[in-house]
Amino acid sequence: MSAIDDLPPLREVIRRHDLMARKALGQNFLLDLNLTARIARAAGPLEDVCVVEVGPGPGGLTRALLAAGARQVITIERDRRCLAALEEIAAYDPQRLTIIEGDALEVDVRPYVAGAPARIVANLPYNVATPLLVAWLSVEPWPPWYDAMVLMFQREVAERIVAAPGSKTYGRLSVLTGWRAEARILFDVPAAAFVPRPKVTSSVVRIDPRQTPLACDRRALERVTQAAFGQRRKMLRQSLKTLGVDPAPLLAAAGLDPTARAEDVPVEGFVRLARALAHS
Ligand code: SAM
Repeated sequence: MSAIDDLPPLREVIRRHDLMARKALGQNFLLDLNLTARIARAAGPLEDVCVVEVGPGPGGLTRALLAAGARQVITIERDRRCLAALEEIAAYDPQRLTIIEGDALEVDVRPYVAGAPARIVANLPYNVATPLLVAWLSVEPWPPWYDAMVLMFQREVAERIVAAPGSKTYGRLSVLTGWRAEARILFDVPAAAFVPRPKVTSSVVRIDPRQTPLACDRRALERVTQAAFGQRRKMLRQSLKTLGVDPAPLLAAAGLDPTARAEDVPVEGFVRLARALAHS
């Protein structure tokens, strides 16, 4: 039995440190060791990997990542109350666990992971999950500093991330993800697995960055998807007017039907549109 397995049960840790979950921090803790181990396994072999975990909370997934043999686990936690609980884990494994107190939206984790392949694995706080994903998919330079992400989202968000054209959930997040990465839902996690129990089902998503995404300016891509999906029921020749340039030549240059709607345009179509905008 490794030292990590000797740690006290998570429920006891939560009680002892008085970690009553705070909704404002998106706190829904996973106490089921089979599930935390399953998420860690989904991240693949970790022996050579520096794992970045956002929002370790009382440390259930953190323990699973260490038990799975991660070379290093860097955690970023905003809630000071959790730090003492995490320090207890670090006491068992001081070489491999680094605890950063802060807001993951603001912390630049890159200096901590320099020199090792990095992977992001997290049960994300639902209130900042989308901005965090957008930030990770928007990093420059590309390919990014991480080699994969295994992340838990609310299922509704997971469906938007992996959505294909033609589906109601296909939108800006699907285009950004599809442009820079390949994403798939690995498995669902029922609400009953969390403490406290959220209202919705969650899903674990694996996101693998493309080494060479189609060349295009990220900001131009953001502008065209914002315009097109901002009025998703309108035809592109209408919705793209908010770009402030005549949509007709852009659509012609991109080879897109002016009467198409945003949700029917594949990622490559938006990339061509972004290129046309950048050259207009
Ligand atoms: N990983 C733990 C688990 O699986 O049981 C906790 C997951 S809970 C869904 C999300 C965690 O993210 C909480 O511990 C919360 O305090 C933390 N958190 C919320 N906002 C954060 C932020 N902006 N930066 C870092 N951590 C944050």
